[in-house]
Amino acid sequence: MFSLREHRLPDGRELLLFGRSAHREEPCESLPPVSPGAGSHLRWHPLRGEWVAYAGARQGRTFLPAASFCPLCPAAEGRLGEIPFRTFEIAVFENRFPAFSDAGGALPVLPPGVEAAPAKGRCEVVVFSDDHRAALGTLSDDRIALLFEVWGARVEALGREYPHVLPFENRGEEIGVTLHHPHGQIYAFPFIPAQVRRAAEAQAASPVIGDLLRHAGELEIEALDEAVALVPPFAMYPYETWILPRRRAPGPQALSGSERQAMARLLGRAVRRLDGLFGSPMPYILTVQCAPRGFEDSFHMSVEIRPFRRDSGKLKYLAGVEQGAGVFLADILPEDAAARLRTLPAGGPA
Ligand SMILES: [Zn+2]
Repeated sequence: MFSLREHRLPDGRELLLFGRSAHREEPCESLPPVSPGAGSHLRWHPLRGEWVAYAGARQGRTFLPAASFCPLCPAAEGRLGEIPFRTFEIAVFENRFPAFSDAGGALPVLPPGVEAAPAKGRCEVVVFSDDHRAALGTLSDDRIALLFEVWGARVEALGREYPHVLPFENRGEEIGVTLHHPHGQIYAFPFIPAQVRRAAEAQAASPVIGDLLRHAGELEIEALDEAVALVPPFAMYPYETWILPRRRAPGPQALSGSERQAMARLLGRAVRRLDGLFGSPMPYILTVQCAPRGFEDSFHMSVEIRPFRRDSGKLKYLAGVEQGAGVFLADILPEDAAARLRTLPAGGPA
């Protein structure tokens, strides 16, 4: 169970404070509002059958500020941030520079035959902690369990309005992360992305994830009664790690308290293993794959971590074969990756 405080920022954006205990602090001053940029829009890629989103306003966003000016840190004397409070557990707010928003705006004039649409939707920032130096791997299991509750609450709320909601975390300067404060994001899309639809249709046709759990064998990294961490047998990234609830749930909103705890414990341990692989924090993309609208009765949620370091000092790039043919090349077998990950210390949070 969590306590929720709803707060309005001066420019009208919503700020939600989630915590184990009620948040009653008086707000301080917040960052001045920025004028909203040109509305985002979508263009249809007829060869891929996918939308491409164009967000003109995003170029001006904060780029690697010094730690003393982190906009996600709690407010302090003489320092304004996005969150006008001195302490918080998990904070969620609407992105200042959203790629998707209901703000609207005129569509650009495009050559005939190029289909465009407003990029309606919502982009939120999820700040995992008020400690700038924390990371998913140093948070307590209970804080990560709270994060699962936050993901669930937002997927449920945004899912009422939008057909697909994606919580995710991009981590590491190597993959272009501009703020080091531990945080993730949530995108609510006005359509079901093509890749998500393909995955949902595959699961509707056959219980792919349930079968995977039953036959994981040497692909298992670690298993608890209610959740499993494994390397999928068809991993596309080196040391790719999935955390799965054993019972089929369409998203984190449908997990029980004990399932959330098991998922949280395995997630923290999985990140610490990845950080231990090459002796430096692993750059990764973490996604929480939830059922898109209409697939709630067959979709089995997953938390998927795609690491971007394949060896000491070597990053995984999507090169010719991946980009030109959509065929992923991997140089470590999933079962070998699982065996290696099992040997690494997963310890407790620092
Ligand atoms: Zn910070």
